[in-house]
Amino acid sequence: MAPRIAIVGAGFGGLCLAIRLRRAGIGSFTVFEKAAGLGGTWRDNTYPGAGCDIPSHLYSYSFERYGSWTRRYPEQSEILAYLEHCADKYDVRRNIRFNTEVVRASFDGARWHLGTAGGDSETFDAVVMAVGQLNRPRLPDIPGMSGFRGTSFHSARWNHDHDLTGRRVAVIGSGSSAAQLIPRVAERAGHLTVFQRTPNWVIPKPDAAFGPAARLALRLVPGLQWAYRGWLFRYVENTLYPALAGGWSAAVLERRARAHLRAQVADPELRAKLTPGYPPGCKRVVIDSAFYPALTRPDVDVVTERIVRIVPEGVETTGGTHEADTIVYATGFRTTEFLAPIEVTGRDGRALAGQWNGGAHAYLGISVPHFPNLFLLYGPNTNLGHNSIVFMIECQVRHIMACLRALPRHGPLEVRPEAMAAWTRQLDRAMERMVWVNGCQSWYKTPEGRVTNNWPGPAALYRRLTARPPLPAYRRA
Ligand code: NAP
Repeated sequence: MAPRIAIVGAGFGGLCLAIRLRRAGIGSFTVFEKAAGLGGTWRDNTYPGAGCDIPSHLYSYSFERYGSWTRRYPEQSEILAYLEHCADKYDVRRNIRFNTEVVRASFDGARWHLGTAGGDSETFDAVVMAVGQLNRPRLPDIPGMSGFRGTSFHSARWNHDHDLTGRRVAVIGSGSSAAQLIPRVAERAGHLTVFQRTPNWVIPKPDAAFGPAARLALRLVPGLQWAYRGWLFRYVENTLYPALAGGWSAAVLERRARAHLRAQVADPELRAKLTPGYPPGCKRVVIDSAFYPALTRPDVDVVTERIVRIVPEGVETTGGTHEADTIVYATGFRTTEFLAPIEVTGRDGRALAGQWNGGAHAYLGISVPHFPNLFLLYGPNTNLGHNSIVFMIECQVRHIMACLRALPRHGPLEVRPEAMAAWTRQLDRAMERMVWVNGCQSWYKTPEGRVTNNWPGPAALYRRLTARPPLPAYRRA
């Protein structure tokens, strides 16, 4: 009998697995989605200017080449439309249970019991967690936030009912989300103050709309999309990845970022504020051509003094109070708390939160000792700073599909301790040379400094590792 499979999350990961299952003729799966719509982070992040800095033809499923991309780099609405298109084309929408949040998952020695926020409970043979790494907004812990007189919200929970026209807006944060929304907010606001705690390295985004001829060719010429995607993949693997691994292009990347700053910011004082004191890639490099020009506008200030508290009339820093009508918290996500707040209990009553106390870790980022038949998509150490996460997700889905196919013969599969230990050794060794280990704090790391989010190798190596037949790494639980 086909195993009953629960997938938690209907973003890029959950949908990918659902589609693969459907295409394999396996219909015995349910996708639990806490929100009313699919798309995950691309449903949630609707701030003005939201988009992706990985090219459209790479930031998409290999099996669903799409003729409707209008730009080299996709905007949020296009990505969401793509995911909606995939869900319909592959007929997986009927398996999605919307507005159903999974809050508990526990293994009884043979099966998984899932509990929902609504109080329902259901039993499955296998559970695949596809909740993402950037799914829970992180509001900062600044005193006085609740006493602010104006309107405030997180970048991933944009308040579209709040008109920014003519208002004094404060944006706290200067990461990738802030860099995308600041140019749009600056156009509308009466005055914008950007609160930057740490500057980021920024490189240009060579975005452009595809002309009619290019769109037609990409749609109709056999193999062209595939060749373009292959070229994009090889380009980022061969140029960007070495820059993150202490290789030949690290100096090139830094020169490019410095030249971009020089070209776009004439004022030496502002340029000094925007120059990072750590190597490029330690924090996620911002890829954007509109960010710096927005910061040079006469109605935009960049404040680097430390924020002391939020006061009813605005933001108080060590330099004084900056009055604001609106505060946008572009302060990122709770990235190292994988799967939280879902309470996951494995074999012999073991709590996943306890096992991951020193930082989340999983074999290939997919499987966890003591948690048989639990699989993760975009789990620990599978994020990239240089290539498409969708590629990584597809590698994971291939591995998980092979495990799921084996379940009827093998029973519950648990990763072997020796496979886990070998993986950890390999990861730790590869991690040593990576730029994000030392020199800065970032969302890739726990507060104690363990890198739990990023994969330290090229994406092509991850594909090779996940393409191996999985069963030798597992035992029957
Ligand atoms: P982020 O990179 O974590 O940036 C958060 C920003 O908020 C940082 O500048 C941080 O400063 C600042 N911050 C946090 N707490 C603060 C506090 N208490 N006081 C002052 N400043 C504070 O988050 P994000 O910009 O949302 O981006 C997260 C990730 O999402 C990106 O790295 C990227 O992978 C992804 N993303 C991708 C795209 C894309 O184009 N593909 C677009 C948007 C987001 P510090 O640096 O000092 O901590």
